[in-house]
Amino acid sequence: MTCIRIEGIRKHFGTTAAVDGVDLDIQSGELFFLLGPSGCGKTTLLRMIAGFIEPTGGRIHFDDHDVTYLPPNRRDTGMVFQSYALWPHMTVAQNVAYGLRIRKVDSAGRKARVAAALESVQMGAYGQRRPNELSGGQQQRVALARALVVEPRVLLLDEPLSNLDAKLRLEMRQEIRRLCKSTGITTVYVTHDQEEALSMADRMAVLKDGRLQQLGPPQELYQQPRTRFVAEFLGETNLLPATVAGRDGDKVRLDTVVGQVVANVPESGVPSGGNVTCSIRPESFRWSPSDNASSLTGEVEDIVFLGDLTQSVVSFGGGHSVRTVALNQGRRPMQGDSASLYVDPDDVVILND
Ligand code: ATP
Repeated sequence: MTCIRIEGIRKHFGTTAAVDGVDLDIQSGELFFLLGPSGCGKTTLLRMIAGFIEPTGGRIHFDDHDVTYLPPNRRDTGMVFQSYALWPHMTVAQNVAYGLRIRKVDSAGRKARVAAALESVQMGAYGQRRPNELSGGQQQRVALARALVVEPRVLLLDEPLSNLDAKLRLEMRQEIRRLCKSTGITTVYVTHDQEEALSMADRMAVLKDGRLQQLGPPQELYQQPRTRFVAEFLGETNLLPATVAGRDGDKVRLDTVVGQVVANVPESGVPSGGNVTCSIRPESFRWSPSDNASSLTGEVEDIVFLGDLTQSVVSFGGGHSVRTVALNQGRRPMQGDSASLYVDPDDVVILND
């Protein structure tokens, strides 16, 4: 079990700061995600952890061991690439055995460990095939088995599911999580797919322009984003400009462009100056009254029926509207209906910027 400590890590390519001073503590056994849009620096950061890229500054520790300038083959990491990178001329079993050969594991030991690794990814029956005789999902499983068979201290995954179709991606999410948790291996997983991160991560770091935006468990980041960027990157949201109308204990009343809502006072306090932006997720609006909720009155401008859900745009005059989404239970809202929307203070998030 290995923890990873990253301190002030930087990588500059010429004038581009790909990673610009990131600090992270990844706990032993954790399934940790680096998430962000294309170009945010997540692959560069992963490659610095693997040792493929030398940092411009900062340190990386595996437990108490400073690995910042250690070559990749001396870090004891297993890596899975987006492209699988299996050797086409070798069988599945030979691909998986490769790392054990390098480590001079004897033939009987190799055979047993390859069989166990292939079994763990449900590929026990495919050892004699070549990679071009496998589907994309099967190749991905073999790549995972190849990384895991050497029992690395750290498993590094670079967008491992991006070449798979949607259904297989969903299946593999749970499978990778199960494998990481059953082996207890510390895993760093890079993706730009927020749903993948939300559904799999123990904790995740959202990056933008080489910098850490926010770090925490998925639910915390989704429900309590600190910035506009994190709020929008993790899912759909309504960003409403507002002014502070007053404070009652740990609650603050906000006059937004669509009416008054009540929010919890954030840990950082109510921003001085009184102008804020708040984020309210579409599913946070309710259509029936509930205790402790603010009410907004508008008109249903547009609806989209999605089978299990209905998305609605509710307008409030002056060109202002909010997007809502609700499960289809009982009567659904119809275009032109007047709408009373209720929102709980827990679901109104005052953003820092
Ligand atoms: P993607 O999801 O598209 O792979 P990413 O978040 O992984 O993006 P990186 O590949 O880490 O982003 O790149 C971060 C920044 O560094 C980008 O602006 C990229 O153009 C730049 N960059 C990455 N590698 C190099 C390189 N070898 N030389 C010059 N610039 C580079």
